[in-house]
Amino acid sequence: MINIFSYNSINKHKGTLKRINEKYGSLKNCSNSELTEQTQILKIKLKQANFETDTILVEAFATVKEAIFRALGMTLFDVQILGGIILNNANIAEMKTGEGKTLAALLPAYLHCLKEEGVHVVTVNDYLAKRDANLAQTVFSYVNIKVGLITQNTSSSKRKKEYSSDITYITNSELGFDYLKDNMAVHKDDIIQRKFYYAIIDEVDSILIDEARTPLVISGITEVKGQLYAEAKDLSLLLKNTIHYKIDEKYKSIILTETGITFCEKILSINNLYDTNSPWIRYIINGLKAKELFLQNKDYIIKNDKVIIVDEFTGRIMEGRRWSDGLHQSIEAKESLKIEAENKTLASITYQNLFLLYNRIAGMTGTAKTEENEFMNIYNMNVINIPTNKKCIRRDLSDLVYKDEQNKWKAIAKECLDMYTIGRPTLIGTTSISKSELLSKMLTEINVPHNLLNAKPENVSKEAEIILQAGKKNSITISTNMAGRGTDIILGGNPEKVVSLIVQNYAYNNSVKLIDEDNLEKILNTDEIRFLRYVNKLNFSENEKNLNLKKINSKLLKNYEKLFQKERKEILELGGLYVIGTERHESRRIDNQLRGRSGRQGDKGRSRFFLSLQDNLFRIFGGNNIENLIKRLNINDTTPIESLMLTKSLNSAQQKVEAYFYDIRKQLYEYDEVINNQRKAIYNERKKILKSNFTKDCILEYAEYTIEEMLKIYAKTHREDRILKKITKLLNIKSDIKNFSGMQINEMKYYLHEQLRISYDLKEIYLEQLRPGLIRQLEKYYLLQQIDQAWQEHIEKMNLLKEYIGWRSYGQQDPLIEYKNEAFHLFINMITYIRQTVIYLIMRSRLIIDI
Ligand code: ADP
Ligand code: MG
Repeated sequence: MINIFSYNSINKHKGTLKRINEKYGSLKNCSNSELTEQTQILKIKLKQANFETDTILVEAFATVKEAIFRALGMTLFDVQILGGIILNNANIAEMKTGEGKTLAALLPAYLHCLKEEGVHVVTVNDYLAKRDANLAQTVFSYVNIKVGLITQNTSSSKRKKEYSSDITYITNSELGFDYLKDNMAVHKDDIIQRKFYYAIIDEVDSILIDEARTPLVISGITEVKGQLYAEAKDLSLLLKNTIHYKIDEKYKSIILTETGITFCEKILSINNLYDTNSPWIRYIINGLKAKELFLQNKDYIIKNDKVIIVDEFTGRIMEGRRWSDGLHQSIEAKESLKIEAENKTLASITYQNLFLLYNRIAGMTGTAKTEENEFMNIYNMNVINIPTNKKCIRRDLSDLVYKDEQNKWKAIAKECLDMYTIGRPTLIGTTSISKSELLSKMLTEINVPHNLLNAKPENVSKEAEIILQAGKKNSITISTNMAGRGTDIILGGNPEKVVSLIVQNYAYNNSVKLIDEDNLEKILNTDEIRFLRYVNKLNFSENEKNLNLKKINSKLLKNYEKLFQKERKEILELGGLYVIGTERHESRRIDNQLRGRSGRQGDKGRSRFFLSLQDNLFRIFGGNNIENLIKRLNINDTTPIESLMLTKSLNSAQQKVEAYFYDIRKQLYEYDEVINNQRKAIYNERKKILKSNFTKDCILEYAEYTIEEMLKIYAKTHREDRILKKITKLLNIKSDIKNFSGMQINEMKYYLHEQLRISYDLKEIYLEQLRPGLIRQLEKYYLLQQIDQAWQEHIEKMNLLKEYIGWRSYGQQDPLIEYKNEAFHLFINMITYIRQTVIYLIMRSRLIIDI
C-alpha cells in the first residue's frame, strides 16, 4: 500500500536529491586533499550563512557521498540520501532492515557537526556503537572529521575527549547516565558533556518507546531489610491464588481478597494491614508478584547469584538495572539469594525527557509507522516512510493457529526439519529464553543442527557471529526477540565480515573454533595458514606482518565472494530466508521487526507465524470474541486453522494491547513532565553555580529573597516578634528587635538588606585573612551540598506522592492535577529550605574554621 502522505513528503525532496547528485558528480574529479578541504570551505560558508545548515545541505551531503565512495567503494542509494534528508529535518525515517541506515545517518551527522556543537549518534548497544563509529571514522577520515566513541568500557578520564569530538557514537544508557552524573558533579572540570545539540537515534522505536517505561536511575544505598522480605516470602507461599489474592495478568498486579487480608493479619498478629505505620502490605504484594508474575529465565535470569532483568522486548539482559520499590529484593528472597540493599534514588530521568533536551532529534528504524501518533504527540516527530531501494517481495503468509502449545511447537520443529533438509536458511523468533531452549531441545532430539541466540551472557558475545551465519545454507537459527540487533542477515553470508572474523580469530585470539574451516583449507596454502596461526608468536617485522595479512585478506575475500555468491543463488532458488514467528508479541511493531529480517534489498523471502490458543495474547487479551470464535471453529488437535476472522480478531487484540501500553507510557510521561520541569530548574541553577567564579551574588540573592519571604509572613501574622527573631537568627545579625519598632515593612526590608551586606562583608574580610579564597570555596560547597541534598529528598517525596495519589485516585479530582498541585508546593518548600539553610550555614561558617 502506498502511503500518500509519505509519498508526497518524499516527493518534495526530489529536487534536493537531484542537486545533491549533480554536486556529487562535480566532486568526482577532485583530489583527496581537495575533498578534505571541503570541510573547511563548508564551515566558512556556514558561518557566512548565519549558521543556517540548510544553505549548505546539498554540498555537504554530496561531500559525504563522495567520501563514502572513496572510503568504502559504495555508492549511496537515492533512498539513503532521502533518509538523510528526513533525519536532517528532525523526523523519523522509516527504512527497512538492510537498507543502509548506518550510512544514511552520516549525511546529516556531517552537515550538523560543521556547526561545531557536537552531534550524537545514539545506538542501542556497545557492539553497534563501536561498529558504526569505526565505519564513520573510516569515511570521515577523508574529510578531516573526528569521530568519538563511548561504551561501557570507556574510562571516565577519556569521556570528555570523546564527547568533544565532532561526532560521538554512544549508547542511550551511557548518554543518560553521563547526563545525570554531570548534574551531580562538584567541580566544573568534572562535567564531561557539552550542551545537547543534535542527536540521531538509531532503532529509535526501541529507545523512545520500548525503553520509555523504565526511567534511568542513579541510586545510593540504604539499609537492608532482609528479614521483612524473607518473612513476606514465607507468607506469600502460604497464601493461595483466588482464595487469598487475585491476579490481574493484564495489568501485572495483585490484590488481596478480604479473606487474604484477615489471614495475613492473623499470622502477623496485627490489627490493620493497611495502617500506614505497618510496613507489611508492600512486602506481601511484592512477595506475591515475585511468586506469580516474575519467572526465572523469562523475566529474569540468575547470574553469579544475582537476579538480572531480561528486557521483555529485546530478550536482552539488562545488567545493573534493578526493579524498584522492593520488587527486586522480593525476587532475591524468592530465589534464596543474598538480599541487596534497597536503593535510594539520587537522580533519575526518563529517555523521553532526556532526548527532549536536544535542540534537534531525529530517528531511524525499520518499524515506526504503527507508533506514529506517539512519536508525534510526545516528540513532535513525523514518521516518514522511505521506499525500499528495491521492491520488497517477501511473502508474509497468514497465521497458523494450533489448539495448544504442544502441538504448535511440534509443528514448528517439523517445519525446521523440512527446511533443514532442503537447505533453506530459517530464523525462528521466540519471546523468551525458556521457549527458545525448549525448541532447541526439540530440534536436538530430531537431529537438526541449529544455533541458539538468546539473552544469556555466554551467547551475547557470539551474537554477531551467529547472525552472520543465519543467511547461510542449511542454517537454522533460533533467536529471542530481534529488536535492536542491528546486524543484517545477508543470504549466502557476508564475505567481508567472515574474512575479518577469520583473520581475527586466527591472528589475534588464536581461537580454536574456526569459521568455515573446510573452505579455508581449500583457499589458503599451508604456509599461509601457518602464518595466520603464528603471526603474533613468531618474529615478523611489522611491515612483513601487514603485507602478508593484506595479501591473505584479499585472497580470502576474492574466494569467499565467489563462494557466497554461488550459495546466495542457491538459497534464492529455495525461496530466500524463511522467518518463523512463534507467538504474536504485544505490539505489531515487534512482529514486523522479526519479519523484516527477511527480504532485504529485494531478496525473495517468506514469513509465517505459528500460534496456539494458549498463547498469552489469546489468553489475556483475546476477550469473548475470540473465545466464541474458537468454540465454533471446532479445531482438532493437530491440524492448524488458517482463519481470516481469527487473524482479524487477533490484530484487534494486539492493537488493544498497544493502546494500553501507550497509555501507560503517556501517563508516565505526563507525571514525569512535572518533575522534569523541576529538574531542569534545579540543574540550571546548579550549573550556573558550578560554572560561576563569583558566588557571592548568589548568596546575597538567596538571603534577600529569604528576608522578603519572611517579612511577608511577618506582615501576615500581624507582626509577631517571633518571626523577626527568626530572621535575625538566620542571618546571624546581632540586632535587637527593638530597633525595628515603628518601621514600615519596606523600611525593615532595606534595613535588613543593609545589615546583611555589612555582616557578610565582615565575614568575608575575616575569612580572607584566615585563608584567601576560602569564602568562595565555602559558598560553592554549601550551595551545591544543600541543593543536592534537598533535591534528593525531594525526589523521594515526589515518589511517595505519586504512590499516594495512585491510592487516592477514586474521587472526582483528576489525579494528575492533584499531583501537579502538591508537587508545586513541595518544590516551593524545597527552594525556600535550600535558601534558608545555605544562608544559615554560611553566616556561621566561622565555627567550622575554628574547629
Ligand atoms: P540497516 O541499519 O538499515 O539495517 P545497515 O546500515 O546495517 O542497514 O546496512 C546493511 C548492509 O548494507 C551493510 O552490510 C552495508 O555495508 C550495506 N550497504 C549499505 N549501503 C550500501 C550501498 N549504498 N551499497 C552497497 N551496500 C550498502
Ligand atoms: Mg541498523
